[in-house]
Amino acid sequence: MARVSAAEALRRLREGNQRFVAGRRARPEPRREDLVAGQEPFAIVLGCSDSRVPAELVFDQGFGDLFVIRVAGNIVAPSQVGSVEFAASRFATRLVVVMGHSQCGAVTATVEELLARTTTQSRNLRAIVDRVRPSVQALLDGGCARDADVLIREGVRANVRVSTNHLRHGSELLEQLIREEGLRVVGAEYSLDTGVVDFFDGV
Ligand SMILES: [Zn+2]
Repeated sequence: MARVSAAEALRRLREGNQRFVAGRRARPEPRREDLVAGQEPFAIVLGCSDSRVPAELVFDQGFGDLFVIRVAGNIVAPSQVGSVEFAASRFATRLVVVMGHSQCGAVTATVEELLARTTTQSRNLRAIVDRVRPSVQALLDGGCARDADVLIREGVRANVRVSTNHLRHGSELLEQLIREEGLRVVGAEYSLDTGVVDFFDGV
């Protein structure tokens, strides 16, 4: 199978999300048997673990189509960078989507901490909040209202931008694939209300 370009991959995701929103899901037949010998996922999705944002469903894709990395708050730590590097180099996948979502619990926890509404957290949860905090702190420093709803809404998008920038510039391998092989890293936000995935920057 020919390599799927980033533009073609983006088109498939957009169309799949339109089917999902319209309730016209194609429900692709599982191709489990065909995939025993290998996989050629056409897109990599780094999304949140939130049970309401399953990438395969909201993009109406089937077995073997998406290489999905899920972690609370769709943060980028070394293991996420490594997972993207693995898929992009091993399977020649040319599109990476970092997908946040409205009402994200990880962003909410960070906002509540910064507004001093919470005090204690486990060290492990703190490791996630620590990666989200700079995005929310930057909003506060930039004059954003100390309103939790506003900070969560804007924080979700700021956090996605931080993650996309980290993937674009935090890995020599990914930088090379972007420069020479047409790899694209794009941000997106899923709306719990509408089911629509909004891709950033007009992509
Ligand atoms: Zn979330």
